[in-house]
Amino acid sequence: MSPFPAVFAGHGSPMNAIEDSAVRREWQALGARLPRPKAILCVSAHWETEGVAVTAAGKPETIHDFGGFPRELHEFTYPAPGSRALAECVAGFLAPEPVALDPRRGLDHGAWSVLAAMYPDAGIPVVQLSLDAARSGPEHFALARKLEPLRGEEVLVLATGNIVHNLGFYDPRRREPYDWAARFDAKVKALIAAGDFATLADLDGLGPDAELAIPSPEHYWPLLYILALRGKGEKLAFFNETVENAMSMTSVLIG
Ligand code: ZN
Repeated sequence: MSPFPAVFAGHGSPMNAIEDSAVRREWQALGARLPRPKAILCVSAHWETEGVAVTAAGKPETIHDFGGFPRELHEFTYPAPGSRALAECVAGFLAPEPVALDPRRGLDHGAWSVLAAMYPDAGIPVVQLSLDAARSGPEHFALARKLEPLRGEEVLVLATGNIVHNLGFYDPRRREPYDWAARFDAKVKALIAAGDFATLADLDGLGPDAELAIPSPEHYWPLLYILALRGKGEKLAFFNETVENAMSMTSVLIG
């Protein structure tokens, strides 16, 4: 059996969870098109920790880690079960790295906004893996490579962030991308297509536009978790290739 697909999704606004958009329709289509996974390991920009952690709650709560959105969004829940077994499995693959099993942490909007569109029945167990804030890009990439065996276990690895993400420049009235945002998105896409993942993992070597496109690395790091899982010569495709003002939704499907 070929390895299970792996997905990096640009997640953007949490409103994508409940509001119709081209991006959300693509998530819905992807969920319908992919083989149904036995479980999902999610890596989101919105869970940074000291050291590495995984969620281990039986019923992870829906975390509303934002403010100022409509009540409908603040009351939205995604009641997918957790999976202690998958959490232990992930910790096993990452050994000898110490991995904390967190029985209290729920799912953040980086995870559930995409999952709610892909799998609206919330019937597939979900575990989240944190981002260790102290790690460099190459260290995240190396850690992610150890998750490769999950693809042989019918586990979907879904990482969500944004290749370009600068809320300081975000202007809801503006649709067209800033020049630096479009340039950086194109550069990253070219490097992905060329399979030059070492360059992509080293955030310091990504040129002057990276300073504006990646003012902090947490939305970029999840991309590395998917690129690291690509087998030699394996199929890779882009979707949701849109850049609006200071945010890129460019997403990657492996397998
Ligand atoms: Zn985000």
